[in-house]
Amino acid sequence: MSKPLVDQHGRVVRDLRISVTPRCNYACFYCDPLGEGAKDPIGTISVEDVDVILTAAVELGIESVRFTGGEPLLRKELPEMIRLAKKKHAIEDVAVTTNASLLARRLPDLFDAGLDRINVSLDAADAEAFREATGGGTIQQVWDGIHAAEEAGLTPIKLNAVVVRGINDDQLLPLAELTRDRAWHVRYIEYMHLNNAEPEAYRERFVSGAESRERIETVYGSLEPVETDPSAPARLFRVPGFAGALGFIDPVSNPFCGACSRMRVTSDAKLRPCLLTDREYSMREALNADDPLPAVIDAFLVAAHRKVASGITSPVTRDRTMVAIGG
Ligand code: SAM
Repeated sequence: MSKPLVDQHGRVVRDLRISVTPRCNYACFYCDPLGEGAKDPIGTISVEDVDVILTAAVELGIESVRFTGGEPLLRKELPEMIRLAKKKHAIEDVAVTTNASLLARRLPDLFDAGLDRINVSLDAADAEAFREATGGGTIQQVWDGIHAAEEAGLTPIKLNAVVVRGINDDQLLPLAELTRDRAWHVRYIEYMHLNNAEPEAYRERFVSGAESRERIETVYGSLEPVETDPSAPARLFRVPGFAGALGFIDPVSNPFCGACSRMRVTSDAKLRPCLLTDREYSMREALNADDPLPAVIDAFLVAAHRKVASGITSPVTRDRTMVAIGG
């Protein structure tokens, strides 16, 4: 490692999220992806770009890489990217965030490439509610993917639900039920204003983590705290007697910017130091240079230096929605 990536506030950047496509085969309410039939726009990061980005990242002390999107499993080169991260660059922790609809089919290749972990987005546990929340998704495909991941030993299985009033808040309990007999982690995430919803409509749809927890406790009684890594965004609990855990990730009501160790690369090769701030730094010119590595390292250093102390969480219009930022 040549220089650690430290921002002006003393935070060390160790985690990189790389969005590999703005396309998705689902149409979730809170997101705004390019449909699965669309082509990746010109300039979408290539395997070669990812190789250079990972070389720079390792030089700068990045320890964990998560591939996301859009839906990263729509990208046929994803196993190659994972192989580069794990086997060429020896990144300690290589993960994917996915809706798992294609996971059962693609897992053998991803696993063979060295995938360490997956996070699965699952906004509903009932088939019909799931279909509505995802704009037509088939939940059985997701169960097949989750079971394949479990069999491959990618545990603990982490299932993430963005809770949106009137869309899937009736799924708080069905989702919690998934942890009764299985050691899965169901994590409830607060809906962030990342889709440019009308501010008032956003506020109406927003459900705080405290409310989610209260509604769950009304039925199951007090949740037991589960020991949690203090730097992790989720606070973990358990329904007494249940095998799995419930997590609450509250970026809006309880921002965890002080512990932020992340930066993002968007699918159009921009470095985004803060999810909730529109400031971005293009790496395209650096990536296209004859000797790209020093220029890409510089781009990382500049972007890390400008990481803001705290992201804006109130409803503001953003230059872009979740589509190409990468969740
Ligand atoms: N398609 C993959 C998936 O479904 O996991 C990866 C991309 S998706 C953008 C990743 C995650 O971003 C979502 O599951 C959700 O957790 C998060 N996300 C997207 N928009 C969000 C929003 N407005 N508020 C909170 N989380 C959001």
